[in-house]
Amino acid sequence: MSQITNSVHTAGAILSIDLDVIKSNYQRLCQELGDVPCAAVVKANGYGLGVGPVATALWQAGARTFFVAQIDEGIELRAVLPDADIHILVGFLHGSDDAFSQFNLIPVLNSLDQIDRWKGRGRCDVHVDTGMTRLGLAPDEVDQIPNGLDIDVLMTHLACADDKDHPLTHQQIRTFRQVRDVVAHKRASLANSSGVFIGPEAHFDLGRPGCALYGINPTPHQENPMQNPVRLQGKIVQVHEIDTQSSVGYGATHALKAGQKLATIAVGYADGYLRSLSSKGVVYIGEQEVPVVGRVSMDLISIDITGLDCEAGQLVDLIGPHNPPDCLADLCGTIGYEILTNLGSRYKRIYKGE
Ligand SMILES: *Cc1c(COP(=O)(O)O)cnc(C)c1O
Repeated sequence: MSQITNSVHTAGAILSIDLDVIKSNYQRLCQELGDVPCAAVVKANGYGLGVGPVATALWQAGARTFFVAQIDEGIELRAVLPDADIHILVGFLHGSDDAFSQFNLIPVLNSLDQIDRWKGRGRCDVHVDTGMTRLGLAPDEVDQIPNGLDIDVLMTHLACADDKDHPLTHQQIRTFRQVRDVVAHKRASLANSSGVFIGPEAHFDLGRPGCALYGINPTPHQENPMQNPVRLQGKIVQVHEIDTQSSVGYGATHALKAGQKLATIAVGYADGYLRSLSSKGVVYIGEQEVPVVGRVSMDLISIDITGLDCEAGQLVDLIGPHNPPDCLADLCGTIGYEILTNLGSRYKRIYKGE
């Protein structure tokens, strides 16, 4: 990842990531899984939080099995964790033979064609599609898996894991049990973060959580059992005392009256502060909630600080204890995953607990 910024004085915002919180989230998931081991999903740059520090922290917390989406992510992770088991969800792509051997990566084989090309090359995983229709072999193809394939993780993925009562969830668990009973393998794995909280019937031999490690609520209809490791502090770069009727931002979408006070913050949609948060986002100054007013622009947002004492250079919480990623996501109709994975590259990143 390109790191353009290098100081709290030159950056428009400071992104602090508490690695101790990520470790304690890992331990919380281990506790939920009981005797079943817990892998860690660190795809998409550790869900936007920085795969190097995040994966190192998870290794220190005891994780030994890691999943990433892409082969290139596996190569990057190998430089961070020389001894980890690194599994590649996208599978054995054409022409990627050397990458798998050179960096000791384990493919999640998603089709009979991939299995046929991998055969004889050693340890692999196999993904069976029990209802997601995205990646994996159909259940009726598993009897064509050749004998002698060295399958470490036999896996499937839930489509509606965050709704434990969804009929598809139960159907997928049933189908996966049948598959598990006929395919030789070392470890069966089904549960993503939400799956871990479904209970023992979803745990099988290996948990495979991602988002919960990073504080996203795996049980959206209940209180969040995870802690938020992320704080994003944006810098006030200008304060406006409004003395005449006017408006703020592109499109002049938000009217202003004399007597109002605005602050301009040096964060915009180019930093992953989504444009759909226009006139919807909330920022905290200490304990005080302050609204984003007008459109989010590329590099800037405006907030209404009427009645507050603020000055240029001051930091405000764009993400923090009162407005975690799930909360921002709710305000603009997305999910916490998207807020995290969009976190920009211009922030000064500070890791606590490194
Ligand atoms: C991303 C992913 C996970 C992790 O899912 P979370 O919902 O983030 O816990 C697990 N398994 C597969 C196949 C995935 O693609």
